[in-house]
Amino acid sequence: MIELLIGRESGVENPRLAVTQNGQTLFFGTPGSVPKDVSRKHCRIQIGEDSKMIVEDLTDNNFIYINGADCKRKGNVSLSDTIELGPSKYRLDMDIIIKTLSSKQSFSIKHLESIYDGYQKDRFDMQVKQGKLNALSALPGVLSMTSIGLAVFIENARIIMIIIAAIFALFFALIRYRNASKIPIRTRKMEESFREKYVCPNPACGHFLGGVPYKELLKNRTCPYCKTKFTA
Ligand SMILES: [Zn+2]
Repeated sequence: MIELLIGRESGVENPRLAVTQNGQTLFFGTPGSVPKDVSRKHCRIQIGEDSKMIVEDLTDNNFIYINGADCKRKGNVSLSDTIELGPSKYRLDMDIIIKTLSSKQSFSIKHLESIYDGYQKDRFDMQVKQGKLNALSALPGVLSMTSIGLAVFIENARIIMIIIAAIFALFFALIRYRNASKIPIRTRKMEESFREKYVCPNPACGHFLGGVPYKELLKNRTCPYCKTKFTA
């Protein structure tokens, strides 16, 4: 959870936007870009996991607009919403604020290594399993072909082999039937868990790091989405 206090820069003729996090203030915009009707202590923004934000008026009589509508005291917002402050509707650029804050922080990605490797291994195992199953299901065909060959030499071989082939065919049909739903379900669960865990550790971002292998993350040392720094 990240908490930001947002307001107009104080003690200057041409104020910028002041964003304070853990007692440290960063300024945004050009001098004079923030109108006087934005309070020095205008609002608090709390950013939780998956980038959900709560914006809250710090005095009860500041104005906050979400997508053009007066939000009164408190409102839920996401990054795609427009937040405006004060009667003259100064637009808050949360995207830039989050990116700037993120670039000043760093997060360890050590835990992502086992998540990535585990996912790759599971995916490989699943492919091997599917491959083995496909190979085995060719067996009944092979048996009946062999039986045709053997029938030349041994009298009852053909019928015995056909019975064996039929039993095998039935057996593999049952296994395939069982796996028909099992493999896709397991694959889906595996994908879902990977999507949930292999994400940017910056709580303000939390973006799925998808196709970027762990080694590459370690090499680039930044989140491709929020630009936050990664450490091993
Ligand atoms: Zn990120």
